[in-house]
Amino acid sequence: MIPPGSTIGIVGGGQLGRMLSIAAAQLGYRCHIFDPHPNPCAADVAAKFTRAEFDDIQALQGFAAEADIVTYEFENLPVEPLRLLGDKLKPGVRSLAIAQERAEEKTFIESTGARVAPWRPIDGLDDVRSAVSELGLPLVLKTRCYGYDGKGQAWVRSADELDAAWDAIGRAPAIAEAAVAFITEYSVILCRWADGRHVFWDSPENEHRDGILHRSTVPGGEAVAAQVEEARAAALRIAEALDHVGVLTVEFFASADGPLVNEIAPRVHNSGHWTIEGAVTSQFEQHIRAICDLHPGLTGLTRGGATMENLIGSDIDRWPELVGERGVHVHLYGKDDARPGRKMGHVTRVIR
Ligand code: AMP
Repeated sequence: MIPPGSTIGIVGGGQLGRMLSIAAAQLGYRCHIFDPHPNPCAADVAAKFTRAEFDDIQALQGFAAEADIVTYEFENLPVEPLRLLGDKLKPGVRSLAIAQERAEEKTFIESTGARVAPWRPIDGLDDVRSAVSELGLPLVLKTRCYGYDGKGQAWVRSADELDAAWDAIGRAPAIAEAAVAFITEYSVILCRWADGRHVFWDSPENEHRDGILHRSTVPGGEAVAAQVEEARAAALRIAEALDHVGVLTVEFFASADGPLVNEIAPRVHNSGHWTIEGAVTSQFEQHIRAICDLHPGLTGLTRGGATMENLIGSDIDRWPELVGERGVHVHLYGKDDARPGRKMGHVTRVIR
């Protein structure tokens, strides 16, 4: 057990690190953020900040030596330097390595018995052509690495878009995935302890705009209710196969013939932000509890449910109106540059 008063190292200094640090501080821990940017938003609320590149082994080892436990809040991290942290890193490098490479991720998910949309590995234009004839159209190309929030993705809707799509993803190693005619999207957010104990939160139904999460709603609709049991079983098999410790999020498509895994995130997730006010224990606090081996907190709803809406780019300009709305919980991440597509904050409305 890592007791309160200890230092938790967090690799990555974005909003997830910020909300983890706030939750950790409430439990009496000190957080130390490791990030290459000059003023990452997590550093504003943490006890210490080290600015260094993620592959700066010396800096990473110094940071880890000062910490009692290290976690990460971002999956596009070089794996090899983190491997040197051994058991001090929770979740372990395996969760990270699998989640950051889409072909490995899909293969791994299928190996646990969960289903994904039909897909093919892509290493060149010929592979794209074969994928079109085998999977049909439309399909989506997704780069194997460094994709998030719809980045590194290009749709092919007709045969004449094939070259442009391959160019659009920078001719990088990719996968091609058949379009899923989904009823809706949802996620299973779970937290697992090293001894196998685990908890789930209610599954949010997720609405995306331009490939970015727009809104999460709990409870989800009928399709979510009908599929969540099977989806939870699949997510738990994934967590167990990874020997994952901490929060794991599995995003699903609700298809007409059941849950299809879209992707996994070995960390707290945007679709779980509603848990801060909408659940007895938030995903952030629970992650800290699990990596420090404290007792699991309750995950039930505090009220009838919740909706979480992201503030993306210039949405942040609505903050005066939002803070004036009765009962809304406004979270602003303290980022200065409201670029289009950048997650600047979120609001949660708890359903009474
Ligand atoms: P991803 O980055 O893979 O999570 O994709 C972002 C969003 O794009 C998803 O949440 C879906 O809304 C949409 N999307 C991704 N892949 C597919 C697919 N194979 N079929 C239909 N929609 C997709």
